Amino acid sequence: MVRRAFAAVVLCALAGVSAAAAALPVKRPPLTWMRGDGSYTKASRGTHAVTTIVIHDTDGGSLDGNVWYLSGGHSHASAHYVIARDGSIVQLVHLSDIAWHSGNASVNAHSIGIEHVGDTYDPAGYTTAEYRSSARLVAWLVRRYSIPVDRTHIIGHSQVPDPNNPALLGGSDHHTDPGPYWRWGYYLNLVRHFAFPERYAVHVDTTTIDRGETLSGIVPWVVRTKRARRVEFLLDGQLVWSDSRRPFAFGGGRGWNTTNVANGTHLLTVRAIGTGHHIASERLVVDVANRNFALTTSAIHAWEKVKGVLRVRANVRGAHTGGIGLYVDGHIVSRDRRAPYTLHWDSRRAHDGLHRITLAAVARDGRVAKRRLPLVVSNDVRPKRPPLPPPEQNLADGQIVTGPLEWHAHTVGPIARVQFVVDGAVIATETREPWTTTWTPTPGSHTLEVRAFTRDGRQATVAATVSS
Ligand SMILES: [Zn+2]
Repeated sequence: MVRRAFAAVVLCALAGVSAAAAALPVKRPPLTWMRGDGSYTKASRGTHAVTTIVIHDTDGGSLDGNVWYLSGGHSHASAHYVIARDGSIVQLVHLSDIAWHSGNASVNAHSIGIEHVGDTYDPAGYTTAEYRSSARLVAWLVRRYSIPVDRTHIIGHSQVPDPNNPALLGGSDHHTDPGPYWRWGYYLNLVRHFAFPERYAVHVDTTTIDRGETLSGIVPWVVRTKRARRVEFLLDGQLVWSDSRRPFAFGGGRGWNTTNVANGTHLLTVRAIGTGHHIASERLVVDVANRNFALTTSAIHAWEKVKGVLRVRANVRGAHTGGIGLYVDGHIVSRDRRAPYTLHWDSRRAHDGLHRITLAAVARDGRVAKRRLPLVVSNDVRPKRPPLPPPEQNLADGQIVTGPLEWHAHTVGPIARVQFVVDGAVIATETREPWTTTWTPTPGSHTLEVRAFTRDGRQATVAATVSS
């Protein structure tokens, strides 16, 4: 079951890669050659003769010391490679020759021995550089010799049988390296990544935005990838969004608001990040072309005099809106969510005089369009005031007068001014009580009027016709 599932996964992975990707070359990492004399067996092993890789540690010492020990015939031991703490690699024995590393001649005959500078029982273990260099080397070896990447074919020295006593392990001297601190899982994963980059290579399949596309408003930007764990979205080289969950989408799926950038050419980059430093990126040059978002209204002008119910027709251009609002002195008085947009305001609810009107619309992309203008409300609404009582005078209708005589008036209310009028001609104007003047009648009939005025222009009159 496990085998079947694994096979299916591998097939899926391979089905998704192009022919070029399937043939990704795996290179041998750089190394230094130091061929020793002796301590190995001359052979001419071909690619089928090598089936196993044996991992060792040097149990102390430096790279130089171990190379000297393993290469110069100073011991009856050798290895094909020694890996230093800093990751540098030295090769001592040619791959076609047999190194004496495992304490078991038949294992040596079909294996490659790799020493790592370190101590079997040191909890500090081995360096990352050491693991990575070694894994790169083994990746190249497993491709070259078609060795499966598993714990049957890549083994520790501690797994090699004692040739004299098959019940014991670690070769003839019962070695226990590379020991309990060697991280097998991590190491074999590294080997797999380096050996089969095509299986792990991330790939940007599609994005919802096309190269060269002209964009406006809010645009969905979703990326389909193979094997990505995270996708980064860059705008003109700046990271603007990162998504770690499928579907990988800019803005959490809300889309990219193109109105936040200037119109013109922009570079969008999608960076898909997989495991083990695998990155694939895709660059898209797009053209952003947003129209200005503006609000238009029916004929209504600044400082216009209005009265009664004001009806304003409005519309937007450049983008879609969810509605238009009418504000008076900062307070919403009318809102219309559907075109054609008509807004109403009963100006009789406001006092006469200057008011600030604002029409405002919000585009779906978040832009705001406003039109402000002052209007003068003039409904001519005045408070009803009580009628001014007429003044009284000391001369009565039909009275016979002889002059000169004192002519008095008496008023009620806030009278500012009184005129004394004879036959239509003003003979005196008084601005202070008592209201009085002197008149010398000429013979005949005369019409006498007293006109009283308030400060705000109201007027009341009393008249009498007298004779002399
Ligand atoms: Zn060993």
